[in-house]
Amino acid sequence: MTYDVIVIGGGAAGLIAAGRAAELGARVLVLEKNKKVGAKLAISGGGRCNITNAEKDERLLLKAYGKAEPFLYSLFAQFGVEDTFSFFESRGLPLVVEANKRTFPNTMRAATVVDTLRAYAQKGGVTIKTGAAVTRIVAQGGCIEGVECGTHTYTAKNFILATGGVSHPETGSTGDGFVWLKALGHSIVPPTPTIVPLRVSEPWVKTLKGITLPNVRLTFYSNGKKAFSKEGKILCTHFGISGPTVLNSAGAVADLLHSGVVTAAVDLYPKLDQGALEKQILSVFDANKNKTLKNVLRLLVPEGASRGVSLLIPVETANKKVHSVSREERKVLARTLKHLPLTIEGLMGFDRAVVADGGVLLTEMDLKTMCSKKIDNLFITGDLLHISRPSGGYSLQLCWSSGYVAGTVAGQRKTGQ
Ligand SMILES: Cc1cc2nc3c(=O)[nH]c(=O)nc-3n(C[C@H](O)[C@H](O)[C@H](O)COP(=O)(O)OP(=O)(O)OC[C@H]3O[C@@H](n4cnc5c(N)ncnc54)[C@H](O)[C@@H]3O)c2cc1C
Repeated sequence: MTYDVIVIGGGAAGLIAAGRAAELGARVLVLEKNKKVGAKLAISGGGRCNITNAEKDERLLLKAYGKAEPFLYSLFAQFGVEDTFSFFESRGLPLVVEANKRTFPNTMRAATVVDTLRAYAQKGGVTIKTGAAVTRIVAQGGCIEGVECGTHTYTAKNFILATGGVSHPETGSTGDGFVWLKALGHSIVPPTPTIVPLRVSEPWVKTLKGITLPNVRLTFYSNGKKAFSKEGKILCTHFGISGPTVLNSAGAVADLLHSGVVTAAVDLYPKLDQGALEKQILSVFDANKNKTLKNVLRLLVPEGASRGVSLLIPVETANKKVHSVSREERKVLARTLKHLPLTIEGLMGFDRAVVADGGVLLTEMDLKTMCSKKIDNLFITGDLLHISRPSGGYSLQLCWSSGYVAGTVAGQRKTGQ
């Protein structure tokens, strides 16, 4: 049987593309190498799925995509943020907007996003073959004729490539699409991890693995000179630091690492200056005169953080009753709480990256249709595109926009039409 559309990869972009093409009456086959579709989607947003960013001002939204901005207007005009809201809400999955316009399903479960997309595809009659790893693309004369999958060759009129990038390869995204696209004549910008946690050397952070430091200021230094600051929350891990503030700093930190030593400082009290913090410490001490500083520390740092922070305080000071802590020692304590030190060893690799930069050059794509300019019947979607973006729902929005448009155009080009 020859299909109208074969979608390679059953992730975010592939599922919406398949569902859309089928909705238009096309006979659609999805080939997914995992046993289940949507593995990466299911772990996105810490399992909650930051499905889009509710920035309704298109200009501001597209600015987040950096150099790709001018290429994306026609794509987002066809399927933008408001379309994402109506797509999911009309299928029984209301969305809720949180801080920084990050948007989540109201179930707070990424699995329900996968369910919604699977149901969309199934409703249109899409055939989903799982455990089906495509091993070769058969092309001739600027057209794809079929794809090899084990001993089978599947043929179709149009092909949508949705195999994702290279981040978290255990989810199935192992970069196969990049290899095929290169062989088909496309220029591929080599992927580098961009939205990725940072590796640090300090034991105090590792002691706090799993603890979040909310409302802090994180300042980065290049060779001892202040480079930039960001405010927000930091998640401590067994290898270093993560969380939105860190992930969104990683690209700039990567640049700084090229020019030398990168250090950072965490300010637990960004809203107080040193003097005001000393006063606050004094009032906490006054209310707990006979306790040791070690015990009072938990009243001065975020929940769960005192064990790690106490590693930065001299043992003899930490063991003192607070009534005998000197003025000088209080000053040092205030300074420490405003400058928890970090030495950035580097970025974590693809295995921990949320997004890796790199992929097909946009100049080789028709962004109105998501069709390749080199291969007439090939559509390219999602993480395969060379578009850098911050964390905050921008990656998945790109999957919805590119997948939906590719599905629309491929679905309209049905056999015989
Ligand atoms: C931990 C984590 C958290 C994230 N959180 C968010 C978030 O909250 N919000 C956000 O916007 N973005 C987030 N992202 C990014 C977002 O998940 C990706 O941008 C998005 O899933 C990419 O979708 P895709 O369809 O392009 O590719 P993928 O989701 O990677 O899907 C590709 C599919 O193709 C299949 N495949 C690959 N090769 C073959 C082959 N040879 N044959 C058959 N099938 C194949 C794979 O198994 C996979 O299922 C997160 C990423 C990670 C890693």
